[in-house]
Amino acid sequence: MAKPSVEVVSQRYILGEGPHWDHNTQKLYFVDIMTSKICRLDPETGVITTATLDCGTVGFVIPVEGMPGKLVAGADKSLVLVTWDGETNVEKAPTSVLANVDADRGETRWNDGKVDSSGRLWAGTMGVEQGDYFPPNQGSLYSVTNSLTPKKEVSPVTISNGLAWSLQNDTMYYIDSVPRQIYGFDYDSKTGAISNKRVVFDLEKASVKGLPDGMTIDTDGNLWVALFTGGAVIQVNPQTGKVLNTVAIPAERVTSVAFGGPNFDVLYVTTATVGMKEAELQEQPHAGCVFVVKGLGARGLKANSFKL
Ligand code: CA
Repeated sequence: MAKPSVEVVSQRYILGEGPHWDHNTQKLYFVDIMTSKICRLDPETGVITTATLDCGTVGFVIPVEGMPGKLVAGADKSLVLVTWDGETNVEKAPTSVLANVDADRGETRWNDGKVDSSGRLWAGTMGVEQGDYFPPNQGSLYSVTNSLTPKKEVSPVTISNGLAWSLQNDTMYYIDSVPRQIYGFDYDSKTGAISNKRVVFDLEKASVKGLPDGMTIDTDGNLWVALFTGGAVIQVNPQTGKVLNTVAIPAERVTSVAFGGPNFDVLYVTTATVGMKEAELQEQPHAGCVFVVKGLGARGLKANSFKL
């Protein structure tokens, strides 16, 4: 791989997360979790528009299929339907609650979420962090179909993150960040059933620095994994457990990745400043920005929208 280019495409955010390339509109959606913001980048113009929600932290945002201007978002412990056309900045975007989770838990919040090939949402929660302390085993991974009854799929987890599906659509990859492992499950796209959890990559054993965070998959079936406090994105072969590539990002807290662009050949990378000390913020002037990485020689796949 020739050296890829890494460019900044946004201002600095606190906890930039959840990049989702919307193929229909050729725009990148992402969130700033702590400030309850949904953001949309138009790569043609470089303009980012923002909608703020007033229902708590926002873990993820995904367009609703066939309903332009409607998005599903994980806000605090609620799944909400957001109305926003993405064209203008909105201070208090209209929302309606679709479902609630974690009623049996104390302080938790929605974290990463993705939609599978059947239009089913998979999204997880985590205990509310205190600085760099993550309360253990407070989160769960849920699936949600258009019946809007969340089904608890994996529990407990500490920081539910990083979802992707294999090219054959028979394996679901998943991350719980704190154990520093990437898991594989046998997966049935029709029923949504997952089984046979196993470790496909162990960062400790591979001597990889940081916590695995967001993740995506390329057309060769390799995983691209953001390394929180690792300052990089790695490409991993989940069959062999080998690291194929490491792409340095000029921000230590790399949070998530998504392929985008008309040919799905650029990688959007979100990062965070949350938890950083003043000196670190000065040393890393681009920490918290969204980056675009070009020249990776890899391509991604179309991201699914939520079927409501
Ligand atoms: Ca994440």
